[in-house]
Amino acid sequence: MQITHSLRSLLLLALSATTWAASTPDTARQSAQQATTPQQALDRLVEGNQRFASGKPQARDLVTQVKVTAQGQYPTASIVTCLDSRTSSEYLFDLGLGEAFSARVAGNFVNEDILGSLEFAHKAAGAKLIVVLSHSSCGAVKGACDDVKLGNLTATLAKIKPAVAAVPDSGDRSSKNSVFVEKVAAANVRGAVAQIRERSPVLKEMLDAGQIGLVGAMYNLATGKVTFYPDTAVNVKAPAM
Ligand SMILES: [Zn+2]
Repeated sequence: MQITHSLRSLLLLALSATTWAASTPDTARQSAQQATTPQQALDRLVEGNQRFASGKPQARDLVTQVKVTAQGQYPTASIVTCLDSRTSSEYLFDLGLGEAFSARVAGNFVNEDILGSLEFAHKAAGAKLIVVLSHSSCGAVKGACDDVKLGNLTATLAKIKPAVAAVPDSGDRSSKNSVFVEKVAAANVRGAVAQIRERSPVLKEMLDAGQIGLVGAMYNLATGKVTFYPDTAVNVKAPAM
């Protein structure tokens, strides 16, 4: 089989993903990652959020995890979420070190840099599931609704504007209308899920081949619970809302 230059580069990238911090790949952890299905990766997140929201997180020795994960990283999921200080995916899904890639940007949209990061996480480093996670009362979504202008933030909020336009509600379309804001946040998740397929041939190929899963979700700041959108799910079955 002829190995193309780009594939060879990816293989080198994957190798370096396991050896950035150490010289010996951990074959047991790598095998466990590769044996994980997209559905199993989602089930772990669902169970983790249930533990988080019910106040029963797993006991973890993070210092030990530092030592273990220094041998390489083999996460099973990547999570695109908001900059918001209350939406750290490791907390929300009760995860330890090395269990998920985390891509964060205000408004949890995808652009070239986020897509490139996801391509690394999945094509090079072997993760099995992509989650696009928004949250209630998102300040970035509110800013997009209100057409806020501020330095570089103006360009950031412009990425959320298509979601504002996608919600047809008449009446108050400002951040004062919390129902409208939540609809825009949901539309923004659906837009990001669609764009992952449309703008990343690398990820689309993996999704079409069933190698990875994809799902959108919403985090409720008041309850600590994540609700998945079953209609956005690709290659996984999300729990009913
Ligand atoms: Zn936010």
